Amino acid sequence: MKKQAVYFVSLGCPKNRVDTEVMLGLSDHAGFTIARAPEDADAIVVNTCGFIGEAKEESIDTILEMARFKADGGRAKRLVVTGCLTQRYAGDLARDLPEVDQFLGSGDVDKIVGALRGETPRDGVSMDPAYLYDDVTPRLQSLPAYTAYVKIAEGCDRPCSFCIIPKLRGGQRSRAPESVEREVKELVSRGAVEINLVAQDLTTYGKDLDGELGLASLVRRLAGVDGMRWLRLHYAYPTATTDALLEAIADEPRVAKYIDMPLQHIDDQMLKHMRRGHVGKTSRALVEKIRARVPGVTLRTTFIVGHPGETDEAFENLCDFVRESAFDRVGVFTYSNEDGTHSAKLAADLGAVPPKVMESRRRELMRIQRAISRKKMKAMVGRELAVLVEGPSDESEYLFAGRHEGQAPEIDGGVFLALADGVKTPRIGDVVRARVTGYADYDLAATVEGTIAPTRMKRAPTRLPVISV
Ligand code: SF4
Repeated sequence: MKKQAVYFVSLGCPKNRVDTEVMLGLSDHAGFTIARAPEDADAIVVNTCGFIGEAKEESIDTILEMARFKADGGRAKRLVVTGCLTQRYAGDLARDLPEVDQFLGSGDVDKIVGALRGETPRDGVSMDPAYLYDDVTPRLQSLPAYTAYVKIAEGCDRPCSFCIIPKLRGGQRSRAPESVEREVKELVSRGAVEINLVAQDLTTYGKDLDGELGLASLVRRLAGVDGMRWLRLHYAYPTATTDALLEAIADEPRVAKYIDMPLQHIDDQMLKHMRRGHVGKTSRALVEKIRARVPGVTLRTTFIVGHPGETDEAFENLCDFVRESAFDRVGVFTYSNEDGTHSAKLAADLGAVPPKVMESRRRELMRIQRAISRKKMKAMVGRELAVLVEGPSDESEYLFAGRHEGQAPEIDGGVFLALADGVKTPRIGDVVRARVTGYADYDLAATVEGTIAPTRMKRAPTRLPVISV
């Protein structure tokens, strides 16, 4: 029988991308070929995001766009929709989207082959997601092999008022440290120099295994993997960012001096409304401690503006905090009123912040941060950096694109690389020595002066056609 071809679309966060890569691996393992375009596929899978308004709209638009490849005699005969939007609105979607053949939830990743074969019920969503892959689970990488995401845990037990994730992803469940280590070793053996650890709440890793916060010991364990250059930590929770973790980050050369820690707000009343479980002073003290314990650390954070109850004064407090803390990277989201969250109820009592005001607050905070970022970029001119080469730059045929230790994939700026005279053209995945010559708001320009570590990738990376937005 002719092999069936399947095309995947992956929406949302890196954790969802890992799920897509597992579904790619399971499909490939079961004998499906991976199509490079929807028109070449017998089946299409859309792995959705259902976190906030915009993401939900994008998921619906993408499903309808992919459904067109089934219509009018298109080659595709099956459309499968998975992920967080399905987990959240299973019944409604099954009623409103007749063009979809199978629905799987965020915890049904391991049922993808059955769904592709039409062997699962149309509404195959498990209402209590419990799945978590491990190192023996087939997984096809969708990013070039020099970088990879490793999901060390799934789900979340925290009560943050604005967040629907615990309802979409279930309770916290951590992978065994041995399994994570084996997977990291495997990825590094294929050429990965950068490993990005992700989870909904990274810093609570291990609590469900033995009652202890286990991220610090996991980091020390992974720091021993030869060939890895940057172990990067994403989604740290303030109150679970321990001294032991900061010491592990500071001590271990292979651990990127980079911490991504969403703080969401600083105003005490807002943190209370958001049920973050701490006051503003905690965040201020933590930022200071992180900088003291991890010299040269790159600190990334995200904030929500416009949450119910956010007064002008509360917003001013946030602006002051961003000015005084001078974070390296800041993301700002406008509050999204999500049904099923505590905040949605709060909005009724405390009053909603008008969308125009939300948007102007988001712009104001980004304006403050842009000036801070530009000043920090300027201060890097003349410095020598180790830069991971990602490929030819989209900006110019004479430049390469790269990132240094303080720049995470897909969310931070980059380094535009020119070659010094007589310097050999670098390959994708090489780590080069480069001197910073220029700057912009979020990006740097630098001149390559030599190679620090040639890539160990066996062949030029082939990007699987997984759309990630
Ligand atoms: S820790 Fe993150 S994922 Fe968990 S409830 Fe809070 S915001 Fe949501």
